[in-house]
Amino acid sequence: MERSSQTRQTRQRTLVLETLRGTKSHPTADWIFEKVRAKLPTISLGTVYRNLNLLRDAGTIRELRVHGRTARWDADTSPHGHFVCTSCGDVRDVMGLDAYDWQELKDLVGCTVTFQRCEFYGLCPKCLRREERKQQ
Ligand SMILES: [Zn+2]
Ligand SMILES: [Zn+2]
Repeated sequence: MERSSQTRQTRQRTLVLETLRGTKSHPTADWIFEKVRAKLPTISLGTVYRNLNLLRDAGTIRELRVHGRTARWDADTSPHGHFVCTSCGDVRDVMGLDAYDWQELKDLVGCTVTFQRCEFYGLCPKCLRREERKQQ
């Protein structure tokens, strides 16, 4: 590969990763694209997708397949669950509630766990307040 194009690819990947690491909002690829494009106007949405997939495959980031919605991305790969607002789509981290012991699970059900997902659904504080105001 030509050296300059390799440098460009590295820069693109670094920017995608830095952008994702700079937020706790579990953004969509479109959101990341808009942020990266502000710094690197020549980048395409396809390139952002390709880099997100590469980073996911390398285990650097996590892809969240939130039920019924577009994929969201998370730079935090530590074990944690997510709360998803069914009204506005807000995704928040839930720490500590999904700390199952995989070895214990293996003893219990005889299966080896390689992956787990923990999602909670409901209304975020903002949407809850809006609902409450409607009912008054
Ligand atoms: Zn909400
Ligand atoms: Zn998260």
